[in-house]
Amino acid sequence: MHELSMAQGIINAVLETAESNNATDVNEVTIEIGRLAMINPEQLEFILGVLVENTIIQDAKIVIEDIPAEIECYDCKFHGNAVIDEKDHYAPLVKCPECDSLSVEILNGKDIVVKNIVIEKPDDN
Ligand SMILES: [Zn+2]
Repeated sequence: MHELSMAQGIINAVLETAESNNATDVNEVTIEIGRLAMINPEQLEFILGVLVENTIIQDAKIVIEDIPAEIECYDCKFHGNAVIDEKDHYAPLVKCPECDSLSVEILNGKDIVVKNIVIEKPDDN
């Protein structure tokens, strides 16, 4: 399952950051999910909830942010957020909102990024 390996990668990244900062606890993790990342956010959230058990991320609040698909149209040079036709969930069509062209360059919205981690350190209080 795609979401499982994604979730595992996110957890590893968070744990690595937490460890290198000598964190005793992780309070909050913000994850950006691109509209074109082919990820089901609910499913990802569920798997994350399972994977964080018995780690220092266990009680963290997981915040998921939806990142729109940003494109540049080859036909009309429109630059901005694309229209996404998700009739086929695994191969959504990315369209220019101005001229309906499918010949667009995708600039943003394909990635999953751990944007922010709030940690607690031993000397915080
Ligand atoms: Zn266009």
